[in-house]
Amino acid sequence: MNNQLSNRVNQMATSATLAMAAKARELRESGKDIIGLSLGEPDFTVPEFIKEAAKDAITQDYHSYTPVDGYGELKQAIITKFNRDNGLTYEPSQIVVSNGAKQTLSNLAMVLLNPGDEVLLPAPYWVSYSDISKVAGGVPVVIKTSIDNDFKVTPAELEAAITPKTKMLIYSSPCNPSGSVYSKEELRGLADVLAKYPQIIIVSDEIYEHINFVGGHASIASFDDMYDRTVVVNGISKAFSMTGWRIGYMGGPSWIARACNKMQGQVTSGANCIAQRATITALTNSPERIKFMIDAFKERRQIILGLIKDIPGFIANEPEGAFYVFPDISSYFGKTLNGVTINSASDFSLYLLEYANVATVTGEAFGDPNCIRISYAASTEDIIEAMKRIKNAVISS
Ligand code: PMP
Ligand code: GLU
Repeated sequence: MNNQLSNRVNQMATSATLAMAAKARELRESGKDIIGLSLGEPDFTVPEFIKEAAKDAITQDYHSYTPVDGYGELKQAIITKFNRDNGLTYEPSQIVVSNGAKQTLSNLAMVLLNPGDEVLLPAPYWVSYSDISKVAGGVPVVIKTSIDNDFKVTPAELEAAITPKTKMLIYSSPCNPSGSVYSKEELRGLADVLAKYPQIIIVSDEIYEHINFVGGHASIASFDDMYDRTVVVNGISKAFSMTGWRIGYMGGPSWIARACNKMQGQVTSGANCIAQRATITALTNSPERIKFMIDAFKERRQIILGLIKDIPGFIANEPEGAFYVFPDISSYFGKTLNGVTINSASDFSLYLLEYANVATVTGEAFGDPNCIRISYAASTEDIIEAMKRIKNAVISS
């Protein structure tokens, strides 16, 4: 009865990251020894001090519906965090807590986009930006970037994509999937262009803020002329290894926050009470307490980059943040490996799944058809073994 589904969902792509993770899980359950490097999910357990806060919340009998936009105490913790880490000042009316940053992004698209509004997506972009925009009636406008410029959009490229219909710009820094980090100067270059087009709302996804190997995270919202038109998106999934706890949040203009609150109030209500209480503890503690995870990612990045260099046909830039590498593998297009003809990054990613038993994600899902994404949020042993398998699968064919 597929024909009874709405056009909305029929036209929507399945999340490629989640689909690949599900496929890897299925193959593993059927007995295959799959190494999963598809999902952007830290492999650490939740830090003990945060778990304790969650247990306390249960003991203290937190159980009721929460305020739609988050507990007041959590909003204060978020305000303190924005001030401490980003030099940004917000009032509680400018903060909304949601069920993951994904819902924050979805709220923003739903409350800001009208049918036909264009959404600028410098590619590679995070997989869900495009479909979240489309569901809300927006039209994604993909801006191609190049590996030579570290996959970062230049002011000229940004300006060339702007039309009278442009309503929103969405990007992440550190970037999922390229790992690129925009410096303050680079953001100022983009802000100079945006200053000429006041109708554009900027959605700055900073969920990988702490996973930055070059230091000095910069937010475009810290420029006075951008503050009033920027929404900063963040969450606890990545920095605190709390993907399943589903807490994300935004700071931005109060007229947007009010609308997100209204939208969320009809769709999901407020986020889980125990997870919110734990997030207060996560955010009010010093980021020093999670530095061990960042250090581990940094070490793994060096390991994976060293190994990727030895795989023929892989060209990778050096990611400065997040936990992904995004090699260009287009040199394999048109070639046949183990009898399989590779015509696209999807073919290549599926080939790796079958012949190397390693799960990656096709770059097509991120708007770059020449690359694949490899997550190194995995153990060092898995990373080393996966790279060995990939190398064997591409050379011994
Ligand atoms: N933005 C980016 C760039 C991401 O990689 C992710 C992945 N989880 C999200 C948003 C959504 O995060 P959450 O788990 O908070 O929904
Ligand atoms: N953000 C992660 C990723 O890119 C998790 C999966 C998802 O939320 O789509 O792999």
